[in-house]
Amino acid sequence: MDTEEVLAFFRCRRLPYLDRFGPQEAKLPTENLLEQWRRDRQALQATVLEQFPGEEVAPGNEALLAAMAAGAERIYGGQIVAELFWEAEAELASSEVALAPSPETEVELPEDGSTNKTPALPPGAVPEFRSVWVSSSLDLLIRDPALRSQGRPVYLPVHIRLGKRPKPEYELLLALQAELLGSLEGQVPKHGFLILKDKEWYPVELDRRRAQVRRLLQDYLRSLSRPEPPQVLMARSRCHLCHWRNYCRQLNATTQPLSLLPGVTRSRYPLLQKAGIDSVEALANAPPETLQAIPQLGARVALQLQLQARAALSRQPIWLQSPPPALPTAPVELYFDIEADPRHNVAYLLGLLVVEQAEEHKVVNYYSCLAAEPQEEGQAWQQFLEVDLHTWVRRSVVLPVESYSLKNIARWLGFKWRLPEANGAYSIYWYSQWLETRDRRYLEQSLIYNEDDCRATYRLKAWLSQSAAFESSRVETE
Ligand code: SF4
Repeated sequence: MDTEEVLAFFRCRRLPYLDRFGPQEAKLPTENLLEQWRRDRQALQATVLEQFPGEEVAPGNEALLAAMAAGAERIYGGQIVAELFWEAEAELASSEVALAPSPETEVELPEDGSTNKTPALPPGAVPEFRSVWVSSSLDLLIRDPALRSQGRPVYLPVHIRLGKRPKPEYELLLALQAELLGSLEGQVPKHGFLILKDKEWYPVELDRRRAQVRRLLQDYLRSLSRPEPPQVLMARSRCHLCHWRNYCRQLNATTQPLSLLPGVTRSRYPLLQKAGIDSVEALANAPPETLQAIPQLGARVALQLQLQARAALSRQPIWLQSPPPALPTAPVELYFDIEADPRHNVAYLLGLLVVEQAEEHKVVNYYSCLAAEPQEEGQAWQQFLEVDLHTWVRRSVVLPVESYSLKNIARWLGFKWRLPEANGAYSIYWYSQWLETRDRRYLEQSLIYNEDDCRATYRLKAWLSQSAAFESSRVETE
């Protein structure tokens, strides 16, 4: 296996399983934005190499070991393959850890690198070992100026990423590479470095990640040996660019798994399961005492989850307030949407849909403030009046949607984007392409996408106003 697979498993327990055994025809092509990030990372690697020259080696242990034996100060671009061992007895302890609840946006392993104690073997017992071959592409190895092992220099792994700050997954990759180096050299490096977007060197203490790395490997191996992929637990932050997102989403349409219900996070899912609630239907019909018996959930969240399950089952909205509060209306209403490019650190497109009430009908016009050059951002920025529909929606109604993003709600209402595949990532990509190629068609795509976002917001507002008025009159006549 490759360390990239292990990292993918760290981010999502399901992704590498699908990569190996999933229906390949359901896989989406790699997002342009991901390709661009890959190129940006290569550019950063080239800058580091220019600033800190060193020896570049071909993939494979042989070339790497030769450069190390020769005492090269810095070694770029090698690939390492080695066998890692661990005690099988530890496996039992770690499966408990893997199932422990954790926050929704984070993976199961603790960020601080804390470890669970493995039960001691009975006296006289011989530990059983398991092993796996692991390969990893190395960005850079640097020679430790102070340390030597068996007369040879010791090398520390360096990982180059575009992130703004050190993340647990970067540290885990370094820890994995340190284990591989230790397997080849006999001494596991205790430290490594991250070079991030700002080109700063961040020291990383690797000892504290060792137990995590072993657990991650054995959990990954265990997951691969199972007949079914791990549960689908979607989160926007990790799924929106994933090539399996349509496949995972379709499960919602066909089987409505509990794990895909909005609000059922990674930490809440095992709590519900433990209480015997393992389906959307079971949650919708759960007696109050069953939900109250899950104190970690809290009464408010339990009620919210149950309403969400009922809306999903009935495929109908459930109003939280009766009658719903009226949305503010005005003779002229403004619907605002913004596109930003974190790569160039610029908010490049501010779109405004102006809806005016004329005598008999409404007049709708779209205006855009485009910073065709990043330095024009300041000129493009104006004061806008914004109606925060998202807050209003969450306060007032439970909808049968898989998430409460504008896109999902507007799609549920039947709104169609003129560029059906477009999303925020595409828009950023188009803007970057415009800056690189000066092909104005890229800007035009961004404008169409932004205008549709504004129109989707307007559609949502119109539906909310109509529905709220209908609910009010219904309540009055009852
Ligand atoms: S879409 Fe999300 S849940 Fe599905 S494999 Fe990708 S990251 Fe995992």
